[in-house]
Amino acid sequence: MRKLIAGNWKMNGLRADGLALARELARRAAATPLACDLLLCPPATLLAAVRDAVAGSPLQLGGQDCHTRQHGAHTGDVSAAMLRDAGCSHVILGHSERRIDHHETDALIRAKLAAARDAGLVAILCVGETAQERDAGRALDIVSRQLAGSLPDEMSAGAVAIAYEPVWAIGTGRTPKAAEIAQVHAHLRAELKGRLAAPEAVRLLYGGSVKPGNARELLAIANVDGALVGGASLVAADFWAIAQTGS
Ligand code: PEP
Repeated sequence: MRKLIAGNWKMNGLRADGLALARELARRAAATPLACDLLLCPPATLLAAVRDAVAGSPLQLGGQDCHTRQHGAHTGDVSAAMLRDAGCSHVILGHSERRIDHHETDALIRAKLAAARDAGLVAILCVGETAQERDAGRALDIVSRQLAGSLPDEMSAGAVAIAYEPVWAIGTGRTPKAAEIAQVHAHLRAELKGRLAAPEAVRLLYGGSVKPGNARELLAIANVDGALVGGASLVAADFWAIAQTGS
């Protein structure tokens, strides 16, 4: 399966640095075609500028969250329809930082996935256990529960990707062992059977301290169909190096 390398800029990037990063990646993508899909998820304030900066390149644009409704009296929120209108093809949903910072529940995330689907966006659903949960031997139970609770019933394989992001690996420089990632991804693939048609066509991404130095090994693991990259996606050379290992 063609891999997806997604960059989650989080709450980083003022106009000048965001534009420089997007332009540099677009320049590289124009000069050297990649064999993977490359997605940039800047903060909402930069969506339009980044869209214009990467226009004509194969780089895709995504949001980092959306509301459950497409419009209405929800001050400060952005809807899936608005993301689509701004040029997005994807939206990250259920990231652990939103689950923690904004107390997002599986039920809320499920409603957001439905909104993303209805707006024609591909949802990147994040699941993953804490260190405490892994130490207690509950990693598989946790991702099963999150998947069951946050994946709507009527999803097509092309409308969703699942990102396995162990909370303890995000921004820490630590990653699970390859065998641990393989186990969770095989488990997720099995759990998708019966939930939607063509479960083998759903991209399963790994996220958590993916860097140029470990990307090749991580992307070679069975059932790892791409990466969700945080910190390293803010440095053009690093994100590009990761993308090349995914090609
Ligand atoms: C993330 O937040 O989705 C992430 C994977 O971050 P990092 O790559 O910095 O660990």
